[in-house]
Amino acid sequence: MPTEFDLIDRYFARETPQAVLGPGDDCAVLAPSPGMELAITTDMLVSGTHFFPETDPFQLGWKTLAVNVSDLAAMGAKPRWSLLAGSLPVADESWLGAFTQGFFACARRYGVDLVGGDTTRGPLTLCVTALGELPSGEALRRDKARVGDDVWVSGTPGLAALGLAHLQGRVALADDLCAVCIGALQKPMPRVALGMALRERKLASSAIDVSDGLLADLGHIVERSALDAEVFVARLPSLPKGVESALARRCQLSGGDDYELIFTAAVENRAGLSGLATELDLPLWRIGRMLAAQERGEVRLIDEQGGRVSVSRKGFDHFGQDQNQ
Ligand code: ADP
Ligand code: MG
Repeated sequence: MPTEFDLIDRYFARETPQAVLGPGDDCAVLAPSPGMELAITTDMLVSGTHFFPETDPFQLGWKTLAVNVSDLAAMGAKPRWSLLAGSLPVADESWLGAFTQGFFACARRYGVDLVGGDTTRGPLTLCVTALGELPSGEALRRDKARVGDDVWVSGTPGLAALGLAHLQGRVALADDLCAVCIGALQKPMPRVALGMALRERKLASSAIDVSDGLLADLGHIVERSALDAEVFVARLPSLPKGVESALARRCQLSGGDDYELIFTAAVENRAGLSGLATELDLPLWRIGRMLAAQERGEVRLIDEQGGRVSVSRKGFDHFGQDQNQ
């Protein structure tokens, strides 16, 4: 039986060119670049809650790091370091080999060193901490949206939720669309280049990544900025063909796990943003606008006729009451 330290050496301890000291000591030692602030985030993935126990370990390894990199992207930070705390039921080396391959594939793609962690026995739970850098005072925060700003979203939100619906047998997607949606669910591509460009070019007033659903996550910007928002159905990305439109719309507005960015931007930045979309080859959709709060901050969905659409489930909340709606 391999010991905890055999497993660490075999699977987790890799070169860490960006660290003063990587795995193997009591602490890692890091040297942030001069003039930079650190952005730090941590996310836990629990088997049975955040992923199916039988999920392909390579995809799981990728996603475990990617969801944290996405938080860095949402702040406009450059990803640099990570820590991985894992509780594993057994030392299954073929599982560990595939999991770490996926993890390090994501680490290479986004320039992240794994500098430390913890490895214990227990129910399968994975917790990553990721650290990134950004120039002092320039973080893209949730609480800086302004009245009159446009609301934007990147990519095609809803695909991951459609992929999940397919895996759960709630919809049968055609092969092409199925591959795209399952890919979005299992191998999200955090929008790091977008977040960094929004920050460097000062194009966004606030930003958040879509982990719980478009309306729910826009709701966090609304709340933290003490404003309201309107989202126009007519401006949302078109829905995938061949899927029942009510389900596709629900996935688009309330589905989690997309890891796209929602951001707010002044109206005079529209040209800059459409240029950036072309440069990054990534669609950016101007879907709404920020308004002064009428009562308490809320997100209103507006249909083609200007009427208000009611939405029952705004996003995924682990402790909320409407989980099963
Ligand atoms: P300590 O008991 O001092 O906390 P550990 O025995 O838990 O240290 O870990 C030994 C070294 O291996 C530490 O440097 C730790 O950061 C690293 N390490 C442990 N587990 C992991 C992991 N899953 N990924 C990366 N590094 C790890
Ligand atoms: Mg320890």
